[in-house]
Amino acid sequence: MVDDDEVDISNLQRQIAHTTAGIGRPKVETAAASARAINPNVTIETHHFRLDRDNILGLFERYDIICDGTDNFETRFLISDATVLAKRTLVSAAVLRFEGQLAVFKPHVATEGGHFPCYRCLYPEPPPPGMVPTCSEAGVLGAVTGVMGTLQATEVLKEILGIGETLAGRLLIWDALATKFRTIRLRADPHCAACGPEPRIRDLSAHGATDGPACAV
Ligand SMILES: [Zn+2]
Repeated sequence: MVDDDEVDISNLQRQIAHTTAGIGRPKVETAAASARAINPNVTIETHHFRLDRDNILGLFERYDIICDGTDNFETRFLISDATVLAKRTLVSAAVLRFEGQLAVFKPHVATEGGHFPCYRCLYPEPPPPGMVPTCSEAGVLGAVTGVMGTLQATEVLKEILGIGETLAGRLLIWDALATKFRTIRLRADPHCAACGPEPRIRDLSAHGATDGPACAV
């Protein structure tokens, strides 16, 4: 778990790893305590700092699968580029208001026609600042994050166990208000700046400091 934030009362409607007793404490501490309370045999490593271009690759090298539950585009693009460079599988969940999105990105894995797509094959560049409201501006229905987190955990288990049909190459979209799930096919972009045959992104130097808003799911 990596996070630099402390528990705030406004988080608790959607972040069930924390409780009112943990307000003001580092989120990685209270989330780790919650997981250990369920199963003390789970090994949890906590990293109480903010991911940035200088620390991310060293951290990601230590893990096989990366789960993104962040809420700002700067960090999402940083995580995506780092997982492509480090050849790590990324399981990515995102929530805004009443909708959730889930995808698995592993462009280092070959398919029949080439390889699986990365996040930048879907979203080549971050949207201009202010174009997409943050979760603190637009709001999030708390239960939606719980569903997306559970779906995300299921995809992690599938990737570890090698069972079922991988979600890589597809984007799951859940519209909670309409109670509809749909899945869109994703293809690797042959001109992708991160995972294409002639990638422009060969390191993380183009990423600045990540100082976006903090309301991770
Ligand atoms: Zn790509």
